[in-house]
Amino acid sequence: MENKTIYMDYNATTPTDPRVLEVMKDYFFEKFGNPSSIYEIARENKKEIEKARQKVAELIDAEPEEIFFTSGGTESDNWAIKGISFALKNKGNHIITSQIEHHAVLNTCKFLSKIGYEITYAPVDKYGVVDVDFIRKSIKKETILITIMHANNEIGTIQPIEEIAKIAKENGIYFHSDCVQTVGKIPVSVKKLGVDIISLSAHKFYGPKGVGAIYIKKGTKIETFIHGGEQEKGKRGGTYNVPGIIGLGKACEIAKEEMEEEAKKVKYLRDKLEKGIMENIPEIIINGHPENRLYNTLNLCVKYVEGESILLNLDFEKIYASSGSACTSGSLEPSHVLLAIGIPPEIAHGSLRFSLGKYNKEEDVDKVLDVLPKIVEKLRKMSPFWEKK
Ligand SMILES: *Cc1c(COP(=O)(O)O)cnc(C)c1O
Repeated sequence: MENKTIYMDYNATTPTDPRVLEVMKDYFFEKFGNPSSIYEIARENKKEIEKARQKVAELIDAEPEEIFFTSGGTESDNWAIKGISFALKNKGNHIITSQIEHHAVLNTCKFLSKIGYEITYAPVDKYGVVDVDFIRKSIKKETILITIMHANNEIGTIQPIEEIAKIAKENGIYFHSDCVQTVGKIPVSVKKLGVDIISLSAHKFYGPKGVGAIYIKKGTKIETFIHGGEQEKGKRGGTYNVPGIIGLGKACEIAKEEMEEEAKKVKYLRDKLEKGIMENIPEIIINGHPENRLYNTLNLCVKYVEGESILLNLDFEKIYASSGSACTSGSLEPSHVLLAIGIPPEIAHGSLRFSLGKYNKEEDVDKVLDVLPKIVEKLRKMSPFWEKK
C-alpha cells in the first residue's frame, strides 16, 4: 500500500495479499484455458480449481462437494435465501431474519416479500445480539428458513449462531448464516455451528474481489440460482472465474495458517485505539458487544458532530475509515444497525467505524490518536448542539 496512507476500513474490503496475487497471475495468460474444455491447459485448470475447493472446505470444516463458487457474498446470500424459498415454496412461505443483516440479505427478503413470502425481522438488544427467544416464538408451520449473520459488518457483534441453528434443526427448518465477516478472521466450523448454508467472500480476507463461495450441506434442498452451463454440477452456471477461484483458495490457505497470530496483533491495535479514543475524547459511545465482537472492529458515535465531517477531515490526513457500512454511506439515512440497537437518529449520524487488519501498524493507531481528538474538538466548536450543553 502507498506510503503514509492509513487504511482502517477492512470490513468494507481488504487489500489483496501479494502471495494471493502471485498465484493468480499465471491464470490470465499462460493458463487462461476454460476449465470446461478438454485440452491440457483446461484440464490443468480444472485440477487447480478442485484444489482451491479443497482449501475453502478445509478452512470451514466442510467437504469439498459442499462448496460452490460464486461471485461473492452478495450472490451467495441471494442464492441461499431465494434458492431455499423457491425449492420449498410448497412447504411454506415464511422466513425469519434479523433487523441488522447486510443489505444483501435484507433486500433479498424485501424482494421475496413482494412475491408472496412473509418475512419476520428479529430485533436485537443494545449490543446488537439477536433476540433468540423472539426467533423461537416466531416459528410457525410455514417457516422454511432462518437466516442470521455470524458477525455484523458495522458493529462487529457476533451472534449466538449455534443456539439458533439448534432451534432451527429441532423444528426442521433450514438455517443460513452470512459468514462474510467471520470466515478468514475467526475460526468457522460449519459442523460446530450446525448450519446448513453459509456465505463467504474472498475480498473480505485478503483475496480478490468478485469471487466467493457458498457452503451447502449435503442433502439440502435448494434451487439453482444462476442458470446456465453445467459448471458446479449444474447448480451454478457461468464460465469459471479461474484466477479469482485460485486466489480465493490461496487466501483460505493463508488464513488457516496465519489467522490466529494475526488476530492477536490486530486485537491489540484495536484495543489500543479504543482505549485511546475513550481517554481523549469526551462524550463517545462505543457500539457493539463489549466482548462478543470482532477483534478488528471499533464502531463509535461521537456526539454533537456528523460522522461524515469527521471522515472528510480524516481523509485529508490520509486516514481511511467509514461512517458505517459502505453501502449506506452516500445516503443520508442513519445506519439501520445503529437504529436497531436503539441509538437515536441524531446520535447515529455521528457514527464512525474503524476496522483494522493485518497491514496496520502501531504507528497508524498512534497517528489516529493524535489527529482524531483535534478534529472532533474543532468540529464540536462549530456545532450549535455542543455550544448549548
Ligand atoms: C461485504 C459483505 C457482503 C457482500 O459481499 P460481496 O462479496 O462484497 O458481495 C455480505 N455480507 C456481509 C456481512 C458483508 O460484510
